Amino acid sequence: MLIVLDPDITPQQKNVILSVLREGNAMFREISDAGQSVIGATGTAGHDLSFFESLPGVARVVPVETAFKLVSRQLHPADTRVQVADVSVGGERIVVIAGPCAVESRDQVMAIAKEVRRYGAVLFRGGAFKPRTSPYSFQGMGEEGLKILAEVKQVYGMPVVTEITTPAQADLVMKYVDVVQVGARNMQNFELLKSVGRLGKPVLLKRGLSATIEEWLMSAEYILAEGNENVILCERGIRTFEPYTRNTLDLSAIPVIKKLTHLPVIIDPSHATGSREKVSPMARAAIAAGADGLMIEVHNNPDQATSDGAQSLYPEQFGQLMRDLYVIAPLVDKQVDFGYLDKAKTVKHMAKAAGGKGRRAAFLGDVGSFSHKACAQFFGDQVEPLPVDSFRGLFEAVKSEVCDFGVVPLENSLAGSVHENYDLLLEYDLRIVGEITLRIKHNLIGHPGARVDDVRSIYSHPQVFQQCRQFLERHGDWDLVSVTDTARAVRHIKERGDFAEAAIAGKDAAELFGMAVLEESIETNPRNFTRFVVIGRESMVGNGQKQKSSIIFSTGNQPGALFQVLKIFAENHVNLVKLESRPIHGKPWEYMFYVDLEADVEAPAFSGVLAQLEGAVEYLKVLGSY
Ligand code: PEP
Ligand code: MN
Repeated sequence: MLIVLDPDITPQQKNVILSVLREGNAMFREISDAGQSVIGATGTAGHDLSFFESLPGVARVVPVETAFKLVSRQLHPADTRVQVADVSVGGERIVVIAGPCAVESRDQVMAIAKEVRRYGAVLFRGGAFKPRTSPYSFQGMGEEGLKILAEVKQVYGMPVVTEITTPAQADLVMKYVDVVQVGARNMQNFELLKSVGRLGKPVLLKRGLSATIEEWLMSAEYILAEGNENVILCERGIRTFEPYTRNTLDLSAIPVIKKLTHLPVIIDPSHATGSREKVSPMARAAIAAGADGLMIEVHNNPDQATSDGAQSLYPEQFGQLMRDLYVIAPLVDKQVDFGYLDKAKTVKHMAKAAGGKGRRAAFLGDVGSFSHKACAQFFGDQVEPLPVDSFRGLFEAVKSEVCDFGVVPLENSLAGSVHENYDLLLEYDLRIVGEITLRIKHNLIGHPGARVDDVRSIYSHPQVFQQCRQFLERHGDWDLVSVTDTARAVRHIKERGDFAEAAIAGKDAAELFGMAVLEESIETNPRNFTRFVVIGRESMVGNGQKQKSSIIFSTGNQPGALFQVLKIFAENHVNLVKLESRPIHGKPWEYMFYVDLEADVEAPAFSGVLAQLEGAVEYLKVLGSY
């Protein structure tokens, strides 16, 4: 059991608890977890739980049936996010760690770091102390290698991960790296576990070659018991009788881990499979199965690698994999963020320029709405989300510097464009600085205990009614009531307490308000996506490549006017991904054209094309590149 103590417990009250345990011969230890003081005890010292709960100074008693206590979800129901500099492992954004098996030379490491950073890795890996099966194999560069890793962090802004093989290396890894890795062969090296527990740095704990999930979690327990709860679990394949793969990747560990513990879990498909062609399929499957991230070996010259060349991806293969993951992640409510590190840097700069004041982003509606989710997935917890009541209010808030950013839905794959926002983009002198796509799953949400047959009226956003048209047609007698956003719809029915009222919204909103999902996934087609753009007053800085731009233009009213403009894109090999027209207010039957194109129109290389465009249009506005 876990005895959670009141924050203001007196020393005398604590002594009473400890002496009861001592006299009852219970095994116990004091631990502190996320700021709360806890006594973990096995055996109940001859008393039942309610006895301990009644002792002064005890906040609550949590019975934990499993052998692991601190890592268990019973103690800590919410997911733990392990913060590594600007990167949060276990949040909405997938964390990909990439780099060579071993640090071999400065040139090799810097070249690989440049590539993996460009393709979207957010943490860098490289072994300086290599635990090799043979004593005659390359054993690693030691401190020289750690210095090179520290340089990667300085030059490319990627925090670094390296393996520690003995407590004697503790001072060195403390000095140079951000995450210490405990390798598969050391998973049950208990002295090493205690030592990394005391270091206080985030720990990446690999699963042992033949360890059960419980043994693996018990090893994590050692680290948490030393007061360090920043543990990232890493499945890297286990030994089976199968020789075609180096190990057997246990992807089923992901849902098991998610259920048993609050700690994040990542997958290492490189050591799991042992050969390059198996890495990407397993990586894709891992993300689809709910992993928080991946650790992938990448080498620019794998044939010459000192270790694990055969399983190392070429940088371009890694880039291709990242593009695939970018598509897969939203299907399971996550994101791959190619701007992760640059965005964090920009937001920090802005905060610094504002005298350390936190940055804010406006979104429409209440917490729990899809706009709120888009905001959280785009920024992580780097900005404070600010709810607003209307899209105009959102643009005003950014313009008047009440906040720095705004998250604006532009288009849904079932219901089409959000026209109001197209007009506001034209009207306001703000820039598009990023975009994010969410998969939208709608649910019929009602009071716990209510049945679909009880329902008479439905609250939601008008766009949502369009996205669920087929479902609603089957219930033609229901009244549809429009509100600003999905979360507000759920809050509204909760407050009114009428079983005949239901809302359509995401699962987050149902959980937030303690309501029940009466019917799941009622959108007309499961391929339902909404694209949001993020607006700001100035472009994001950073060395990430900008792949897309948005512009608005109008042409004269003569034959071939639009053709003349489109010809410029064709002749310059610029791919257009969207073309939409909107009426110009006050000029009946005249239109503005909104174009998204695959190019960075603000790059110097595009200035020639831009000049040609200016010559061919009546009006041109560059909304931004991102
Ligand atoms: C490694 O990641 O470099 C490594 C040696 O992995 P494992 O401990 O999983 O074999
Ligand atoms: Mn390796």
